[in-house]
Amino acid sequence: MEKHRNQTARDSMRSTMLPYGQQWIDDQDIEAVVGILRGDFITQGPAIEWFETKVAHYVGAKYAVAFTNGTAALHGACFAAGISAGDEVITTPITFLASSNCVLYQGGTPVFADIDMDSYNIDPEEIKLKLTDRTKAIIAVDFTGQPVEIDRISMLSRDRGIVLIQDAAHSLGASFSGRKIGGWADMTMFSFHPVKHITTGEGGIIVTDDEDYYRKLVLFRNHGMTKNPEELISNDGPWYYEMQELGYNYRMTDIQAALGVSQMDKLDSFVARRREIAAAYTEAFGGMKGLIVPKQHPSAESSWHLYVLRWDPQYFSADRETIFNELRSLNIGVHVHYIPVYMQPYYQKLGYRAGLCRNAEVYYQTAMTIPLFPRMTASDVSDVIDGVRRVYNKYYTGS
Ligand SMILES: *Cc1c(COP(=O)(O)O)cnc(C)c1O
Repeated sequence: MEKHRNQTARDSMRSTMLPYGQQWIDDQDIEAVVGILRGDFITQGPAIEWFETKVAHYVGAKYAVAFTNGTAALHGACFAAGISAGDEVITTPITFLASSNCVLYQGGTPVFADIDMDSYNIDPEEIKLKLTDRTKAIIAVDFTGQPVEIDRISMLSRDRGIVLIQDAAHSLGASFSGRKIGGWADMTMFSFHPVKHITTGEGGIIVTDDEDYYRKLVLFRNHGMTKNPEELISNDGPWYYEMQELGYNYRMTDIQAALGVSQMDKLDSFVARRREIAAAYTEAFGGMKGLIVPKQHPSAESSWHLYVLRWDPQYFSADRETIFNELRSLNIGVHVHYIPVYMQPYYQKLGYRAGLCRNAEVYYQTAMTIPLFPRMTASDVSDVIDGVRRVYNKYYTGS
């Protein structure tokens, strides 16, 4: 009988896996890319600047420098900030590896500050506790698309002459106190991986108002090399180029940039749809005891990259892994974002230890990302809600 009921439950669910995130490419995007493929420049052409200008204008920044991906862009920001051996950089453990790996690339030392249990973002009070004379920068991550308390964090960094880098891979289109993310920090990174708000396949960008950072970023993504007559130390003739810094080849292609330009036209509607779906989830799950829905800071307007649902273990007869597997078996592509970075074997080898950030570890034990992306249909959204309710009812024990 029990078996039969489960069978029926499963049959009524979807037949294909609903991922936690996915791109939305339309005919206009495809034509934009084809246009570049038929043209003269597939890389180092004019589309890069079109894309940079469009993103800078949208977020309210003076300059933008596109990179091959968001990780390379963060590496560039750490270079421009002058991070090197002996420098400490404060960041959150609840983030993708790249937010702190970029510090290691430059020989710096990541220092992890614990998260706030309402927003899951880095806690400004915890940042204060981790500041030392060697703190060179803060990399603040807008986890799930909800901006960090960027007003308080900017004040902290400005007072101490620390560089503020915002990892806004999750928060393109988000605002804090009515001002778009991208207009707040010294440098802000956006990623264009397919699960993010808009995509270029792979891609990333740094926006900044500072001309000096801008110049360094442009050098860094192209081997540290310049042909700009105003910047040359000497000049042997019209062929002359000069390598002034150790840079990389981190250039975005025009194929990617053209896709980005076309995707930017849809950003606001993508964000609006993400907000709609998030609101539907909060309405559905907000009243279910044992489920913890994401709380929002009153000044933060999230662009909702991720929706994290936490399962309070004291209310359920199954552990998080069982609940996770059950949802996957219903083709609801749940995920966990993220394992605290310092728990990774590589970081353990560097000497970081469990227990470093208590909130982050509690958060990690209970978190589950449920699918959220603009192309989800009403029926996809109700599949998620039904699936969560079903698994909830199966394991809810009442307290
Ligand atoms: C996606 C992501 C990155 C890295 O971006 P890529 O474009 O994938 O290199 C960095 N930080 C966070 C928080 C991300 O989610």
